[in-house]
Amino acid sequence: MSQAQAAFSPEQEDFRTYCRQWLLDNPVGPAPAGMPSGPLEITQSEHMAHLQRWQKKAWEAGLIGCDYPVEYGGQGRQHCQEIANEEMSRAGFPFLPNIVGLGMAAPTILHHASEELKRELLPPIFSGEEIWCQGFSEPGAGSDLANVQATAERKGDKWIINGHKVWTSLAHFSRWMILLARTDRSDKYKGLTYFVAPMFADGITISPLVKITGESGFNEVFFENLEIDDRYRLDEVGTGWQVAMTTLLHERGASGLRTPEVIPQDQGDGGTVDARSLIELARTAQGDGGPAAQDPIYRDRLMQLLIRERAKSAHERRAQVPALQDHPQRLALQNKLLNSELVQDSAALALDMTGSTSTLAQGDANAPDGGLWPYAYMNSFGATIAAGTSEIQRNILGERVLGLPRSK
Ligand SMILES: Cc1cc2nc3c(=O)[nH]c(=O)nc-3n(C[C@H](O)[C@H](O)[C@H](O)COP(=O)(O)OP(=O)(O)OC[C@H]3O[C@@H](n4cnc5c(N)ncnc54)[C@H](O)[C@@H]3O)c2cc1C
Repeated sequence: MSQAQAAFSPEQEDFRTYCRQWLLDNPVGPAPAGMPSGPLEITQSEHMAHLQRWQKKAWEAGLIGCDYPVEYGGQGRQHCQEIANEEMSRAGFPFLPNIVGLGMAAPTILHHASEELKRELLPPIFSGEEIWCQGFSEPGAGSDLANVQATAERKGDKWIINGHKVWTSLAHFSRWMILLARTDRSDKYKGLTYFVAPMFADGITISPLVKITGESGFNEVFFENLEIDDRYRLDEVGTGWQVAMTTLLHERGASGLRTPEVIPQDQGDGGTVDARSLIELARTAQGDGGPAAQDPIYRDRLMQLLIRERAKSAHERRAQVPALQDHPQRLALQNKLLNSELVQDSAALALDMTGSTSTLAQGDANAPDGGLWPYAYMNSFGATIAAGTSEIQRNILGERVLGLPRSK
């Protein structure tokens, strides 16, 4: 039992036992061939349908939406989603495809939507029947998110949306989008308003973008006179920036969702870039001069990463200590930064240890571990960019958490 688990109450431990038993009683059958490595890489309808079926099954069993009120499709429990996530992960349960819905849209809707919208939108997020995407980034608004230029103009009880979003993960499967749009050009921050946009309505064009790995999980989205009912606005006109902060707080690590992002297509849930897999690789990989485990430079790099991984686990336990919750974003920001950079540096070491064979990618019979390492390395860059780049995380930590002077 981990130290984090030791802090759980008897009710939470009972819930853990229930989850474990349910997962034993409902073994995961074979997945369709070529399953992607994580939710951001799903491109085939067959894969999405398979994952949605499992998400619905888990929701019906009470393993999803655990901490949300019953009237919104939840279980009304306290701090139990983390337990269900841990158990699903332990049991090799398929990853949950509705990552934007569960991790970002649901908490934002809970905090900022009307009672009517909460009852309408939250249950199908938990069941996975309605997939969500996030329409924040634009060609000129990524790190500088408040520069959003897509416009929302009021026309009676409707809003007319025009503009261009980019890097929109899962838009091609989505029924809804959380959308940040400009309602006033005179004020950068107070000119933003937050909506939920129906992706099934007229006035939307979705165009796929291909990543360095060859997968196309994200898209450009173009709006041409999309109509949204005013009842799909979250909070007041002009408060979009504050609502977006709720979304980002959850996006940057608070959701605790299981989202494996470093596993190659043909290995399903088989491999991850963690300390154990690196040690195994150091023992077995024949780089360009014998096993890396015998090379003092690789041994040193490996030890540095093991120390960072240990520090990361110790750091995560701070979430159990209320006195350390002095700033709402501290842990989420630190976790996102630590995790994404550790995975990237680990994948880089793995590439080096496999020597010249590291250039052999998936599909090559001679590629070490089926091409896991180059795939993991290329895919790791998305994690240090999405949800705010590492530079931006450091700026926010420095300025808002540590109170250092703002950069000019
Ligand atoms: C895998 C993936 C999935 C994504 N999914 C979505 C999605 O579903 N919805 C969505 O809305 N967006 C999504 N994004 C977009 C993501 O949020 C942006 O890519 C990110 O915010 C960076 O914005 P940008 O790409 O415009 O880069 P820019 O903001 O142009 O940054 C370029 C470079 O300049 C640096 N930089 C910029 N400003 C500063 C500064 N003030 N100080 C120091 N350095 C700075 C950055 O760190 C970066 O290295 C996704 C991105 C990825 C990689």
